[in-house]
Amino acid sequence: MSDCIFCTIASGAFGTEFYYEDENVVAFDDLHPQAPVHVLVVPKAHYDNIIDGVPAEVLSSMAAAVKAVAEKRGIAESGFRCIMNTGADGGQTVMHLHMHVLGGAPLGDGLIAK
Ligand code: 5GP
Ligand code: ZN
Repeated sequence: MSDCIFCTIASGAFGTEFYYEDENVVAFDDLHPQAPVHVLVVPKAHYDNIIDGVPAEVLSSMAAAVKAVAEKRGIAESGFRCIMNTGADGGQTVMHLHMHVLGGAPLGDGLIAK
Protein backbone atom coordinates (compact mmCIF):
# COMPACT_ATOMS: atom_id res chain seq x y z
CA MET A 1 0.00 0.00 0.00
CA SER A 2 1.74 3.14 -1.21
CA ASP A 3 -0.15 5.43 1.19
CA CYS A 4 0.58 3.34 4.29
CA ILE A 5 3.26 4.79 6.58
CA PHE A 6 4.38 1.41 7.94
CA CYS A 7 4.61 -0.08 4.42
CA THR A 8 6.88 2.83 3.53
CA ILE A 9 9.05 2.55 6.67
CA ALA A 10 9.34 -1.24 6.35
CA SER A 11 10.46 -0.88 2.72
CA GLY A 12 13.51 1.04 3.95
CA ALA A 13 12.56 4.13 1.96
CA PHE A 14 13.19 6.44 4.95
CA GLY A 15 16.51 4.87 5.94
CA THR A 16 15.06 3.98 9.37
CA GLU A 17 17.43 2.17 11.77
CA PHE A 18 16.17 -1.39 12.20
CA TYR A 19 16.97 -3.35 15.36
CA TYR A 20 16.01 -6.52 13.50
CA GLU A 21 15.22 -7.37 9.90
CA ASP A 22 14.50 -10.60 8.09
CA GLU A 23 12.54 -11.46 4.94
CA ASN A 24 9.21 -10.90 6.70
CA VAL A 25 9.53 -8.18 9.34
CA VAL A 26 11.44 -5.17 10.63
CA ALA A 27 11.69 -3.62 14.11
CA PHE A 28 12.25 0.09 14.81
CA ASP A 29 11.69 2.75 17.49
CA ASP A 30 8.20 4.16 17.98
CA LEU A 31 8.04 7.85 17.06
CA HIS A 32 6.38 8.70 20.40
CA PRO A 33 7.85 6.31 22.97
CA GLN A 34 5.63 5.42 25.94
CA ALA A 35 8.43 3.66 27.86
CA PRO A 36 12.26 3.77 27.94
CA VAL A 37 12.18 1.01 25.33
CA HIS A 38 9.32 1.23 22.83
CA VAL A 39 9.95 -0.69 19.65
CA LEU A 40 7.48 -1.63 16.92
CA VAL A 41 7.68 -4.99 15.15
CA VAL A 42 6.16 -4.56 11.70
CA PRO A 43 5.64 -7.03 8.84
CA LYS A 44 7.02 -5.95 5.46
CA ALA A 45 3.79 -7.07 3.76
CA HIS A 46 0.59 -5.22 4.56
CA TYR A 47 -1.92 -6.84 6.92
CA ASP A 48 -4.52 -4.65 8.58
CA ASN A 49 -4.25 -6.45 11.92
CA ILE A 50 -3.68 -9.80 13.63
CA ILE A 51 -6.93 -11.29 12.24
CA ASP A 52 -6.13 -10.36 8.63
CA GLY A 53 -4.90 -13.78 7.51
CA VAL A 54 -1.33 -13.39 8.71
CA PRO A 55 0.82 -16.36 7.54
CA ALA A 56 2.51 -18.53 10.16
CA GLU A 57 5.97 -17.62 8.89
CA VAL A 58 5.25 -13.93 9.48
CA LEU A 59 4.10 -14.64 13.03
CA SER A 60 7.26 -16.68 13.55
CA SER A 61 9.39 -13.79 12.30
CA MET A 62 7.56 -11.42 14.67
CA ALA A 63 8.47 -13.70 17.58
CA ALA A 64 12.09 -13.83 16.42
CA ALA A 65 12.10 -10.04 16.19
CA VAL A 66 10.79 -9.70 19.76
CA LYS A 67 13.59 -11.93 21.03
CA ALA A 68 16.24 -9.98 19.10
CA VAL A 69 14.88 -6.62 20.28
CA ALA A 70 14.67 -7.78 23.91
CA GLU A 71 18.28 -8.95 23.83
CA LYS A 72 19.63 -5.92 21.93
CA ARG A 73 17.81 -3.43 24.16
CA GLY A 74 18.71 -5.24 27.39
CA ILE A 75 15.17 -6.06 28.56
CA ALA A 76 15.18 -9.82 28.12
CA GLU A 77 15.86 -10.41 31.83
CA SER A 78 13.96 -7.47 33.35
CA GLY A 79 10.84 -8.17 31.29
CA PHE A 80 8.67 -6.31 28.85
CA ARG A 81 5.18 -6.11 27.39
CA CYS A 82 3.99 -6.98 23.88
CA ILE A 83 0.80 -5.34 22.64
CA MET A 84 -1.14 -5.48 19.38
CA ASN A 85 -3.89 -2.90 19.40
CA THR A 86 -6.62 -4.05 17.02
CA GLY A 87 -9.39 -1.95 15.51
CA ALA A 88 -11.25 1.03 16.92
CA ASP A 89 -11.99 -0.30 20.41
CA GLY A 90 -8.44 -1.64 20.62
CA GLY A 91 -7.05 1.84 20.04
CA GLN A 92 -5.31 1.00 16.75
CA THR A 93 -4.31 4.20 14.95
CA VAL A 94 -2.03 2.82 12.22
CA MET A 95 -3.94 0.23 10.22
CA HIS A 96 -0.91 -1.91 9.37
CA LEU A 97 -0.27 -4.83 11.73
CA HIS A 98 2.34 -4.03 14.38
CA MET A 99 3.40 -5.24 17.78
CA HIS A 100 4.52 -2.80 20.47
CA VAL A 101 7.44 -4.01 22.60
CA LEU A 102 7.57 -1.90 25.76
CA GLY A 103 10.03 -2.13 28.62
CA GLY A 104 12.98 -0.61 30.42
CA ALA A 105 10.95 0.28 33.53
CA PRO A 106 8.13 -1.24 35.59
CA LEU A 107 5.01 -0.86 33.47
CA GLY A 108 2.44 -1.37 36.20
CA ASP A 109 -0.53 -3.71 35.99
CA GLY A 110 -2.73 -1.67 33.64
CA LEU A 111 -4.07 -3.26 30.51
CA ILE A 112 -3.40 -0.14 28.47
CA ALA A 113 0.17 0.78 27.64
CA LYS A 114 -0.35 4.15 26.05
P1 5GP B 1 -1.34 1.99 17.45
O1 5GP B 1 -2.02 3.14 18.12
O2 5GP B 1 -1.86 1.81 16.04
O3 5GP B 1 -1.34 0.72 18.24
O4 5GP B 1 0.19 2.37 17.37
C1 5GP B 1 0.71 3.14 16.35
C2 5GP B 1 2.06 3.61 16.83
O5 5GP B 1 2.78 4.06 15.71
C3 5GP B 1 1.99 4.77 17.82
O6 5GP B 1 2.62 4.38 19.04
C4 5GP B 1 2.73 5.89 17.11
O7 5GP B 1 3.53 6.64 17.99
C5 5GP B 1 3.57 5.16 16.09
N1 5GP B 1 3.82 5.89 14.86
C6 5GP B 1 2.92 6.57 14.12
N2 5GP B 1 3.50 7.11 13.03
C7 5GP B 1 4.81 6.73 13.10
C8 5GP B 1 5.93 6.99 12.26
O8 5GP B 1 5.85 7.66 11.23
N3 5GP B 1 7.12 6.45 12.65
C9 5GP B 1 7.25 5.70 13.78
N4 5GP B 1 8.47 5.21 14.07
N5 5GP B 1 6.20 5.44 14.60
C10 5GP B 1 5.01 5.97 14.26
ZN1 ZN C 1 0.94 -1.07 5.22
